[in-house]
Amino acid sequence: MVKKQEYSLFEDVCKVVDFAASHMDIHPGLLDQIKQCNSVYKFNFPLRNADGTYQVIEGYRVQHSHHKLPVKGGIRYSSFVNEEEVKGLAALMTYKCALVNIPYGGAKGGVTIDPTKYTTEQLEKITRRYTSELIKKKFIGPAIDVPAPDYGTSSREMAWIVDTFEAFNPEVINAKGCVTGKPLSQHGIEGRTEATGMGVFIGIREAVGVREDMEALGLDVGLAGKKVIVQGLGNVGYYSAKYLQEAGAKIVGIAEYNGGIWNEDGIDVEDIKTYQLVNKGFLGYEKGTFIEDAKSLLTYPCDILIPAALENQITLDNADKIQAKIIGEAANGPVTQDADKILLKKGIMIIPDMYLNAGGVTVSYFEWLKNLSRVSFGKLEKRYDMKKYDALLETIEKATGDSFSEQQKELIVRGASERDLVNSGLEETMVTAYHEMNRVRKEKNIKDLRTAGFILALERIAISYMDLGIFP
Ligand code: GLU
Repeated sequence: MVKKQEYSLFEDVCKVVDFAASHMDIHPGLLDQIKQCNSVYKFNFPLRNADGTYQVIEGYRVQHSHHKLPVKGGIRYSSFVNEEEVKGLAALMTYKCALVNIPYGGAKGGVTIDPTKYTTEQLEKITRRYTSELIKKKFIGPAIDVPAPDYGTSSREMAWIVDTFEAFNPEVINAKGCVTGKPLSQHGIEGRTEATGMGVFIGIREAVGVREDMEALGLDVGLAGKKVIVQGLGNVGYYSAKYLQEAGAKIVGIAEYNGGIWNEDGIDVEDIKTYQLVNKGFLGYEKGTFIEDAKSLLTYPCDILIPAALENQITLDNADKIQAKIIGEAANGPVTQDADKILLKKGIMIIPDMYLNAGGVTVSYFEWLKNLSRVSFGKLEKRYDMKKYDALLETIEKATGDSFSEQQKELIVRGASERDLVNSGLEETMVTAYHEMNRVRKEKNIKDLRTAGFILALERIAISYMDLGIFP
């Protein structure tokens, strides 16, 4: 019997890169160098349980490309973590950063555990030991390799990481920049938690704002009234859905690993999130129909489908049945290469992961910059006595014909706060990258945004490698 080939995210990413390269004039040797993962570190360490038993925990950190340093990418805790997955995710980080012009090489880490099966104490032990393994091998540091949250981790784990790193590296002056996505109390940055979802929202908003592209899909321009299905109501899915709903889209379906909800009249994102937190799922939620086979929700009718959980969700098994006109890849690698071809034939527009979820690493970059300069952006602001500026504001209002709210007035007077700085930088990054990618698509007469995005990223990475030369 022929053994069924296991799915490899890394192979899938390499296939897209090869296809993009076929539209370019790039030296095959250089392409090989770009595609491979430079360093793959796999390790095991023991965890001693309270009852005296032991477990062996498997960890990974993969550095895909050193063309820009430090390398950057999240740490994932999931029982699906394996070498091919981490390599694929690390590679995606390289292309993602190049596409949005963030000066990092790509990396990714993972621990093969289901975090819901561990206590907080155990997770802290695992995180600190994982970090110490990275420290031993110099796989972490503000100038070397900078992790961040990913599926199954959050600011809590990042705080444990920075604390462990600092304990072992008291001489490193900018040690806070060894990891991003930290809590605000630990030199994190305003807006990092929401950043990926905010980026997903901005990316989709840009896509549905292009008239000729929407006409080709038979859709109206703009988000108002667009029916959206989201897979995953974790950090990324929740904020994506929340911002889309606030902008007038209608969330008609939400799928989670333990069941989904469908309501054609719309689901209130805040309401269902609160329910989910209390009840650990949607079972019993009365403002919609509970769908036990949540994955089937991906094939329900909608305008925009947003997979925001794990890779390998839209495959040969369900691609044919997808009814959405647009797929916004908030997760990394949710559509397999085989499925991608079917979706393209069906005329579905895919906004690719390497672009759409780049908001996270973009704001991580701002956090890292803040840590390197050891400054809190918010702290630079002076507290102003607003009364002193009443006359000035009145003059501006008269001159412009605008009427400002109290909050706007404060912003005018004291300049942007940290959150405003973060959000405007994120907005600028996502808007610019979308239109660059779409321009390449049209100029090169390419059907899909993914190939166009990879061409742009490859062009930038190739120049970087060529300028670097080869050592020795
Ligand atoms: N884990 C996120 C991603 O896949 C963020 C990475 C980062 O901020 O470094 O893009």
